[in-house]
Amino acid sequence: MSTIYWEEEIETLPRVGLESIQLKRLQSLVARVYKTVEPYRRKMDVAAIKPEDIQNLNDLKKLPFTVKEDLRENYPFGMFAMPLDDIVRVHASSGTTGKPTVVGYTRKDIDTWAGLMARALACAGTTSGDMVHNAYGYGLFTGGLGAHYGAEKLGATVIPVSGGNTKRQITIMKDFGSTVLLSTPSYALNLAESIEAMGVDPSSLSLRVGIFGAEPWSENMREEVERKLNLKAVDIYGLSEVIGPGVAMECLQTKKGLHVFEDHFLPEIIDPESGEVLLPGEKGELVFTTLTKEAFPIIRYRTKDISSLYYETCECGRTLVRMEKVTGRSDDMLIIRGVNVFPSQVEHVLMGIDGVEPHYQIIVEREGSMDTMSVEVEVSDTVFTDKIKGLEKLTQHITRDIKDILGVTCRVKLVNPRSIKRSEGKAQRVIDNRKI
Ligand SMILES: [Zn+2]
Repeated sequence: MSTIYWEEEIETLPRVGLESIQLKRLQSLVARVYKTVEPYRRKMDVAAIKPEDIQNLNDLKKLPFTVKEDLRENYPFGMFAMPLDDIVRVHASSGTTGKPTVVGYTRKDIDTWAGLMARALACAGTTSGDMVHNAYGYGLFTGGLGAHYGAEKLGATVIPVSGGNTKRQITIMKDFGSTVLLSTPSYALNLAESIEAMGVDPSSLSLRVGIFGAEPWSENMREEVERKLNLKAVDIYGLSEVIGPGVAMECLQTKKGLHVFEDHFLPEIIDPESGEVLLPGEKGELVFTTLTKEAFPIIRYRTKDISSLYYETCECGRTLVRMEKVTGRSDDMLIIRGVNVFPSQVEHVLMGIDGVEPHYQIIVEREGSMDTMSVEVEVSDTVFTDKIKGLEKLTQHITRDIKDILGVTCRVKLVNPRSIKRSEGKAQRVIDNRKI
C-alpha cells in the first residue's frame, strides 16, 4: 500500500526539524497569549513565568495547565485571543453539567483546520476520487463541519448527510456509492445493524474506509465494524477545545496508534494525579498546546483522555509521534470497590465472546456503602432463542471473564436483541446512579 500524503514534507520531517518549528511557534504563542488573553496572563503571573522563560521545548512544563473549568469561568468569549470582529465562526460543546464551552475561529483558523482534516483524510487513504459520507452531526458540534471542510479541501465529494435518519443514510449510501464513512463508532454499528435489517448485502455497498471518532472504542469493536460494514476502520482524534477533529489520525497502513499533527499541536502525557510529565510509552492523561491557532489558542489543555506517546517512525513513513488509541477518559473511569474500571475494558471483554452483540450498558449503583456494577448486554437472535441453560452458561462466562480481566465482580444481565437504545451520535455506555 503506498502512502498518500497531504503535506509530505512536514509529515516526514526528521524530529530535529520538527522540534525547531515547534519551539519557534511555542515561543510566539506564549508571547501572544500573555499579551492578549487576560486569564493566561494572570495564571502565568501567579506562577512567576514570563514569555521569555520559554527557551526550549522542555520549558513547556513550566506553564500552568488549562482545564475545562477555566473555559467555563470565562464563558463565552473570555479566552479568545482576537477581537470578535476577526472571528468568523464559533462552536460549542454541550456540557452535561453547567454551561457549554465555546471556541472561536478566525478565517485563517478555519483554513488551517480544513488543511489538517484533509491531512487526516489522506492519512486514511482518502483521495479526491472518494465519495465521503459525513454522518457526523452538523451544528455546534465540531465533527460535521470540521470533516466537511477537510473533505472539500481534499477535493473529494462530500455528502453532508449528518447524523440520524438511518434508513435514508443507507439508501443514500447505496445510490450515491459512498466510499468513505465518517461517524462515531457506535453510530457505525447502528448503521450496520440497520443495513442487515433492511436486507442490504454490505458487499453490495461501495464503502472502503470508515473514519470513526469522538468516543473511545476498542480493537474488538474495530473488527466488528470492519466485518459488518465490509470496510477498513480507522480512528480519528480531536476535541473542540483544541480545534475539533483532525488533531491526530491513524494511518491506514498500520492502524496502530494515531499520528499527532504536532506541527500544530504539541502533545504531552501527564500523571493525572500529580500533573508530572511522563516518559514516552507511559500511560497517562493527554495534554495539548496549540501552536498555530489564532482565535482560541490553548496552553497545556488537560483532555482527560488516557493514552501514551511513542516516537518510533511508522511503517507509513510519517515521523509524527503516535498516540495510543484512547482507551478511556479519566472522568469515565469508574472506581468500583477500589478497582479502576474503564467502559472500554468491559467492551473489550464483551466483544471477545461469541453470541454477544456490541450493544451494552454499564449500570453503577450504591447499595449501602457498597458500589455495585451491572452489565446489560444484548445477545444475538440465535442465542436468544436458545435454551435457558445456554443463556445461563453465557452469563457465567461473561461474569468470569470480566472478573478475570478487570478484577471486579459484576452482575451480568442478558437482554433481548435490539432492546438497548441505539446511538445517533455518542453512545451512553455508563449509567451512574450513585450521584443521585
Ligand atoms: Zn503511520
